Amino acid sequence: MVKQYNFNAGPSILPQEVIKQTAEAVLNFEGHGLSILEISHRAKYFQPVVDEAEALMKELLGVPEGYRVIFLGGGASLQFCMLPYNLLEKKAAYLNTGVWAKKALKEAKGFGEAVEVASSADKNYTFIPTDYEIPQDADYMHITTNNTIYGTELSDKKLQQIYSKLGKVQLVADMSSDILSRPIDVSKYSIIYGGAQKNLAPAGVTFVIVKEDCLGHVSRQIPTMLNYQTHIDGGSMFNTPPVLPLYSAMLTLRWLKAFGGVEAIEKRNIKKAELLYDAIDSSKIFVGTAEKEDRSRMNVCFVLKPEYQDLQDDFFKFASEKGMVGIKGHRSVGGFRASLYNAMDVEGVEALIACMKEYENRI
Ligand SMILES: *Cc1c(COP(=O)(O)O)cnc(C)c1O
Repeated sequence: MVKQYNFNAGPSILPQEVIKQTAEAVLNFEGHGLSILEISHRAKYFQPVVDEAEALMKELLGVPEGYRVIFLGGGASLQFCMLPYNLLEKKAAYLNTGVWAKKALKEAKGFGEAVEVASSADKNYTFIPTDYEIPQDADYMHITTNNTIYGTELSDKKLQQIYSKLGKVQLVADMSSDILSRPIDVSKYSIIYGGAQKNLAPAGVTFVIVKEDCLGHVSRQIPTMLNYQTHIDGGSMFNTPPVLPLYSAMLTLRWLKAFGGVEAIEKRNIKKAELLYDAIDSSKIFVGTAEKEDRSRMNVCFVLKPEYQDLQDDFFKFASEKGMVGIKGHRSVGGFRASLYNAMDVEGVEALIACMKEYENRI
């Protein structure tokens, strides 16, 4: 079998050593003679895993004092409702930049007035809108920093624009698919959340970075399990956490630290994305779908030019035979999507580019 290159959008590639160490822990957890699958999460040797995962998230992202990092179940999708449950008293503002953003907005509507400040839906979410104000009476403003399906990302420049528009309004973000891929100024946010299965861990664990003083201001009763405070007080152990994915998350964080942290991985992510976008832009048959200034470094979406449309299945088959896995675009965009998460190395991207060039030269 040819070497497989994993471009899946999620669940997605993890560092090989994380997968190996996770497999080892399934057989014999850190030499204790038991599988991680069969020990109590209250066992004295599991608590250090949670502590280290929280500490490494804080260290790698530069999380300031006054914030906690918690690990929950339910995925990013549960956060779409948990967040307004805890923060929305009257009104919230949402930037609609894709299907995930829209789903978040939909859930908020059950808790109060949820305003869509701007949307790029009419252009199939190919860009990040900038022409809007943030209502100053909103309890928070919600953004999705990377739009996994459409291959757009809020660049540092666009994030700065949002920060400058906030006024007194607090900012919250879904960072499921670009967390830890670049430095982020956590102090600008009250909540940052995401499913871990894009850049951090196997599916099953959700991270939430919470500014503690943003809690406790809504008048409604919050169910115990949906209250962030419960999980802060319980140190992510109020109930049984997703033990195995949490362990893998800790390993990935260790890997990232050894790699040099988010600044170092950002450099590599920029390089990978530039290589692939350059190949697309200079191709005679492929074309990118997202506006150039809003292109994602994590998810690269491209399609065949109209005159080559009928080659879609043929290229897909060719690429699959060359070991390119998971490059089919999401059904709402079509074409192809290559996800270049942290664990993908430059060699993998070069292999994909070589495959695209080889195909192009044959037709
Ligand atoms: C994948 C994804 C989600 C959904 O995550 P789940 O953990 O499956 O609920 C939400 N938002 C973004 C940006 C995503 O990429």
